[in-house]
Amino acid sequence: MKARAVRSPEIAPEEKDLDKPREECGIFGVYGRGLDVARITYYGLYALQHRGQESAGIAVSDGRRVLLHKGMGLVPEVFSREKLDRMDGHIAVGHVRYSTTGSSQTINAQPLVFRYARGTIGLAHNGNITNVWDLRSQLASTGSVFQSTTDSEVIVNLIARYSRNTLEEALAKCMIDVKGAYSLLVITEESLIAVRDPYGFRPLCLGSLGDGYVVASESCALDTVGAKKLRDVEPGETVIIDQQGIRSMRALSPRRKAHCIFEYIYFARPDSEMDGFQVNRVRREMGKQLAREYPADVDLVIPVPDSGTTAARGYAEESGIPFEEGLMKNRYIGRTFIQPSQDTRDMGVKLKLNPMRHILEGKRVLLVDDSLVRGTTSSKIVRMIREAGVKEVYLCLSSPPVIKSCYYGIDTSNEDELVAAHMTVGQIQSMIGVDGLYYLSLDGLLGIFGEYRDNFCTACFDGKYPVEISKPGDAGKFALE
Ligand code: SF4
Repeated sequence: MKARAVRSPEIAPEEKDLDKPREECGIFGVYGRGLDVARITYYGLYALQHRGQESAGIAVSDGRRVLLHKGMGLVPEVFSREKLDRMDGHIAVGHVRYSTTGSSQTINAQPLVFRYARGTIGLAHNGNITNVWDLRSQLASTGSVFQSTTDSEVIVNLIARYSRNTLEEALAKCMIDVKGAYSLLVITEESLIAVRDPYGFRPLCLGSLGDGYVVASESCALDTVGAKKLRDVEPGETVIIDQQGIRSMRALSPRRKAHCIFEYIYFARPDSEMDGFQVNRVRREMGKQLAREYPADVDLVIPVPDSGTTAARGYAEESGIPFEEGLMKNRYIGRTFIQPSQDTRDMGVKLKLNPMRHILEGKRVLLVDDSLVRGTTSSKIVRMIREAGVKEVYLCLSSPPVIKSCYYGIDTSNEDELVAAHMTVGQIQSMIGVDGLYYLSLDGLLGIFGEYRDNFCTACFDGKYPVEISKPGDAGKFALE
């Protein structure tokens, strides 16, 4: 059901690390009189830049009108000081995006701002709607017009459809219609509203800043702007912030929770805390659990930076094997990086990661990374460290094999591109060129969360999708009012 992203010419697919799943979006909102809400949102989005690098946008309200600026590129590329200076107000919502549905162009950048019968609304969405085909065709057949190709615009059209109701009632109705993963921020002339789907797929947390409030995908963004985290927005909860203060409501009764476990494995920043768990601590436990499941006889534990670093430290701690940074990461490769030609292909990986011969030569090493999607980058890394003189190399992954696509807001590639979906561990081991390949078991991974182990989506590892996925042509399964 998920449309493959058609990327803009200036962002060639080769420039991205296609060997990692990609997060779709980060959202940030702030409400507070006397606060420089545009700048606060700018810094909040900066802290969430890892969740999306293709486009960025901020909508600001001064109580009378909603101003929007958005564009393609990283946050500092889209916003200048002058631009921010012109965005006066006391409410703001921001968005960074990597497209998994809809093409990569400015019209699909968010927030989506539109006028409807009750005023102006801006919407920032993280996640994927799984019954988008049903909704789109029903809405289109009854006169709705779509300007973008994002699934988020379906929510916009639904809100407009329910304009006889108050916005809060309209959002409640939307939550009944829309299936799938959504953490939403909505800005109106007078309010900031946060909504999280009843399964809680994508994270969303609430903080206070002076007399105001901040809502963000991850707590690292609250820390960045000096806000104090109050709590996570609960699955199925709607939080409304306006001049009367803050209040909460629920349109749906709680379902089983299904927080995306990949947030902890790879996407979220290690300094974030979500749904009761500190990401850095969870990653370290993953490494420790790997060491218990696969005690290796090696000289060194080496991370693939940065995604494998925390788990590698955990492995080293648990096993007592020395931790060394044997691969140095170049941190200055941006989106304008020009992919080398066929002749200079290996330079692409070497430019990003350089093996340190004086650490690696003659050693038996355990390489730790978070996940394996296609295996292409891992093969190049293994070849590089072999060239640097390692005697033996084993690869440990702090996730189970990724065998299924994600439909809830993460681009894990098509199933036919997922190497673990089609090859045995032995075959992958040969393809990558390692002496051993070990995955963290799903049971071991969930065990880290103790009594909360059933609160997670693990569909990309076991195919158990918490919410049904619809396909094109599935229209008619439900009725709009
Ligand atoms: Fe996360 Fe995987 Fe579930 Fe997608 S399928 S929400 S990546 S755990």
